[in-house]
Amino acid sequence: MSDTCTIHEDHTHVHGPDCEHEAVEHGDHVDYIHDGHRHAPHGDHYDEH
Ligand SMILES: [Zn+2]
Ligand SMILES: [Zn+2]
Ligand SMILES: [Zn+2]
Repeated sequence: MSDTCTIHEDHTHVHGPDCEHEAVEHGDHVDYIHDGHRHAPHGDHYDEH
């Protein structure tokens, strides 16, 4: 379901082009590999994939 998301709470790290996490293109956005999970920036939070 595209309108549901699992928010990663207490995510203090900010992912970006220069962060140490691997970026993976995922359709119209970019995921970041973070501790074995994929995190996707979504508004003011990060989603678990
Ligand atoms: Zn979300
Ligand atoms: Zn990062
Ligand atoms: Zn993350």
